[in-house]
Amino acid sequence: MTDFTKFIHMPVLDNHVHHFSTYLTESLWEIMDKAGIDAISVMPVIDNEQVNSNPSAFHLKYKYPERVRLFGALDYTRLLMGNKNCPSLAEQVDILQGIGCEGIKMVEAKPDFQLKLPSYNDSFYQSFFLKAEEKCCPILMHVADPEEFWSRETAPSWAVQNGWYYTDKHPSKEDLYIMTDNVLKKFRGLTVIFAHFYFLSADLERASRFLDNYPNVYFDLAPGVEMYHNFSSNPEMTRDFFIKYQNRIIYGTDSGLEPYIMGPLERLPFESSLKRIWFVRNFLETDEVFSLPEGIPLTEPERSLIHGVSLPRKVLEKIYHLNYKSIAGDDPKPFDASAAIEELNRVSAFLKKMKNRSNSAGEVVGLMTG
Ligand SMILES: [Zn+2]
Repeated sequence: MTDFTKFIHMPVLDNHVHHFSTYLTESLWEIMDKAGIDAISVMPVIDNEQVNSNPSAFHLKYKYPERVRLFGALDYTRLLMGNKNCPSLAEQVDILQGIGCEGIKMVEAKPDFQLKLPSYNDSFYQSFFLKAEEKCCPILMHVADPEEFWSRETAPSWAVQNGWYYTDKHPSKEDLYIMTDNVLKKFRGLTVIFAHFYFLSADLERASRFLDNYPNVYFDLAPGVEMYHNFSSNPEMTRDFFIKYQNRIIYGTDSGLEPYIMGPLERLPFESSLKRIWFVRNFLETDEVFSLPEGIPLTEPERSLIHGVSLPRKVLEKIYHLNYKSIAGDDPKPFDASAAIEELNRVSAFLKKMKNRSNSAGEVVGLMTG
């Protein structure tokens, strides 16, 4: 099933990969090698236990500086835990760029995180967005979620299991879009890649208006498997959309996300990871009508067929690597290991002070200095 040899031979950069532990490095590369993915952009996220998952991402970049790009996650411990040694978010832009991050990853506007954090329209975030705009620091944002998550009845079972179904306490999908619009209107120079097609795959007309209104925004293709079912409901319209907005769409797979939903793992699942990568490429490159391979996490057993859109080579080239490079640069930014160690030591000291039961920042400092 997962035959990659039929796909076009060209550089492929996966814009949306997670790396939650240094243990997973070997299995991650096995997957990427098999799938013919040359380069990856790693997306750490904020984390209740460990502040964020920057440490394992930094370590991957340290070991493979030519193959890895990096979007750093932020540290909210000043706000949430009174950590006086935590720099402001605006200062963190400088720190992360100094380490060699191409940009910043924010999952903060996923509805469950929004319950704990200020709105992006709050004064708390203004100096941060201003700094990111001034320093040409792109942000990869996860905003909202698929619409069916807003009711326990309609949310898929795997989403309910992860606590991803929302009530009146959570902001609505429209609230989150209004909040995001306000940011984009105020910071017109800010470059934002919206993960998972900004959850607008069911409404391509709206997606099109959004891209027209904000010339510096992009959509990534990381499944959200629901996206591909939505796309397949009208393959001609989808194909026209992808061709019209060929400069604004970026390939991504969400590979490496399994520990986030399944808890700590020693290895990433090889077969199911390949299946997820394979079906996105098969959708983009062929006109086949096919069922989703079984066993991909975060999918329902019964769903409609996928219709491939068979994009022209020149369009694929943009989606697979050129659009990302137009935002983040042709070459990976160099990694400043001493700046990374300094930042990890700061986080590690905080985790020690809090008597945290594990300390991934400290462990990675050990690996980078030992
Ligand atoms: Zn992701």
